[in-house]
Amino acid sequence: MGTAHTTMSTISQLDISGQQAEIWDDAQAFIERAAASGAFVGGAEVLSFEEEYAAYCEAAHAVGVGSGTAALHLGMLAMGIGPGDEVIVPSNTFFADVEAIVACGATPVIVDIGEHDLNIDPASVAGAITPRTRAVIAVHLYGRAADLEGLRAVIGTRAIAIVEDACQAHGARLAGRRVGGLGTFAAFSFYPSKNLGGWGEGGMVTTDDADLAEAVASLRAHGERTRYLHERIGLNERLDAIQAGVLRLKLRRLDDWNRRRQAIAARYREGLAGCEAILPAESDPGDAHVYHHFILRVAERDRFRELLSADGIGTGLHYPLPLHMQPSLVHLGLAPGDLPVAQRLSGEIVSLPMYPHLSHGDVDRVCESVRRHAVGIER
Ligand SMILES: *Cc1c(COP(=O)(O)O)cnc(C)c1O
Repeated sequence: MGTAHTTMSTISQLDISGQQAEIWDDAQAFIERAAASGAFVGGAEVLSFEEEYAAYCEAAHAVGVGSGTAALHLGMLAMGIGPGDEVIVPSNTFFADVEAIVACGATPVIVDIGEHDLNIDPASVAGAITPRTRAVIAVHLYGRAADLEGLRAVIGTRAIAIVEDACQAHGARLAGRRVGGLGTFAAFSFYPSKNLGGWGEGGMVTTDDADLAEAVASLRAHGERTRYLHERIGLNERLDAIQAGVLRLKLRRLDDWNRRRQAIAARYREGLAGCEAILPAESDPGDAHVYHHFILRVAERDRFRELLSADGIGTGLHYPLPLHMQPSLVHLGLAPGDLPVAQRLSGEIVSLPMYPHLSHGDVDRVCESVRRHAVGIER
């Protein structure tokens, strides 16, 4: 290899061109048909996708919405969450969870994450429960299911709902069951970079609760069930037909693409064996981790990223600033040391290239570069 890397192609952290190529011809034909039909919002394509997605998630109902953020927001509105209520959320997640809570008029309560899985820490949740707690958002971050059993144990017999944020976990399993039907409702995002991503914005609420599904269906369309009869104050958060059609084409390939992600993760683990730096720890056999991201922990992160970048390898940060340190949330009054695990890991985690069409040769190249530089990697 030697210095040959200067002439090598770049390996991005994310590249969806392989997915594009697989569906291109079918998508083009579909979009022409859809455009000719004039059915752009809702309609048969959305209904078919909702049916197929509910079946895929082993949930009774699926309701298409405008984004993953809208799915979280409308699902909690449908539960009646509002002013005076508290919703518990892990500090290491995308900001949308907080936005959805605040959009309902409720108060976010931010808790720490577990060192071994980087997901919400049930022990930290136990210390945050008050008589006002209405729900806990279990974020299945990076494609690995959160510890719902641990959460149920700390919730006990209290009337506190578990909401799944499955925006990074399409197809993941926990103890053999798909995420999406394990809590009161689940929120999925179809943002283009997700494991199941459209050609624009989109999202889905999945649930076993028929009343909740009906409320979300009404809330996404101005609170109407009958045209111009507004039973609720809703929003305009519908899924469009073009997205539904593209997502149907991709859903047929999702299991294959997730298996490819798992094979890439296995190759990373092998190629980086001996580094203590791989997170999260491997999950139980019944828990299918679908690797939205593959995470390493490094002490000298900026230097590490520069060295990989010089080798033509892109990396990402998910996420560099924990929720409790966001400028818009200073009024919650949390100090860095209040959530020590999230605080420390937010400065150490780095996301390696991960997408289904990443070649095994490129995975080996990444491993070789990581091992050669290994700046601050624990061994
Ligand atoms: C992407 C994402 C969201 C928000 O989804 P959008 O479709 O972008 O609104 C929420 N939570 C997590 C964990 C995400 O990764």
